[in-house]
Amino acid sequence: MREAMKNANVGDDVYQEDPTVNRLEEVAAKKLGKEEALFVPSGTMGNLIAVLTHCQRGDEIILERDSHIYYYEVGGMSAVAGVIPRLIVGDRGILNPQEIRGTLRDENLHYPKTTLICLENTHNRAGGTIIPLKVTEEICQLAHQRNITVHLDGARIFNAAIALNIEPALLTKDVDSVMFCLSKGLSAPVGSILAGSKEFIQRARKNRKMLGGGMRQAGILAASGIIALEKMVDRLKEDHKNARILGEGLADISGIKVDLETIQTNMVYFDLQESSMDTFQFLPKLAEYNILGSPRPPTKVRLVTHYGISEEDIYTTIKAIKEIVRN
Ligand SMILES: *Cc1c(COP(=O)(O)O)cnc(C)c1O
Repeated sequence: MREAMKNANVGDDVYQEDPTVNRLEEVAAKKLGKEEALFVPSGTMGNLIAVLTHCQRGDEIILERDSHIYYYEVGGMSAVAGVIPRLIVGDRGILNPQEIRGTLRDENLHYPKTTLICLENTHNRAGGTIIPLKVTEEICQLAHQRNITVHLDGARIFNAAIALNIEPALLTKDVDSVMFCLSKGLSAPVGSILAGSKEFIQRARKNRKMLGGGMRQAGILAASGIIALEKMVDRLKEDHKNARILGEGLADISGIKVDLETIQTNMVYFDLQESSMDTFQFLPKLAEYNILGSPRPPTKVRLVTHYGISEEDIYTTIKAIKEIVRN
């Protein structure tokens, strides 16, 4: 990636004159089966641009209670886009179409207008769980019947596609827009993609500019994004295999609880409740072994497998955690 970045042909992307950004956007749109795509600095900005582009101020949007857009994006949808969230609890992050149907209200003078449903595939806080294709199809059908658009926070949509062994475009065919991250599992240093119809991306481009996300010679970054899409997708299965080994190894340790059902992609959540430690006592001990995890307090921890983590590292990690919990 560093080599490609060094050699990238560049131009001014604010004027759509950067050939490397243009190429990345073409490759990305094609992979997702959308007319056009837009390179954005981060997933958070991509989601916010989507909300801004789909909604008017005062609109209601429907999200899963633990969705990233609601939980981790600093309230940008309300602070910047002026929408109000309506939260539904999913089952391992997956929304039930019937529940959405029950939540949608008929037109009434008093109600805000519901304009958008946001899905998350894979679902981060639920453990990297996959929304089955059928569920996405049903939710989109329901939404479109009511003139509601659907945005997919597909930060890790390629993990879902690889785990299901299907083309990513199949998982995005019914949604009106999709964001995914070139960083994270796909290993690029910076950047995400927002994709949708030509008309949607035209308006999204303007909102990106408004948010300060118009970048000039961004081909330096896009060059790594092209490699992420062309070379880093298929290997995600290694991350999934490693996550499975890690999850099963941890499940065997007394004091640690793992919901193996949720280990569908590259994440492992475990609960320390039955050990003598909580999250913030545990993580510094793990860091002493040079292993980093994310806190999910009070007693949970998230571990993510990725490029550069070998199967041997997984066994080292299981052994380390066994030692920590025993002492
Ligand atoms: C990481 C993540 C984002 C945001 O991406 P950033 O590039 O970190 O802003 C959005 N949605 C999900 C599900 C994520 O995991």
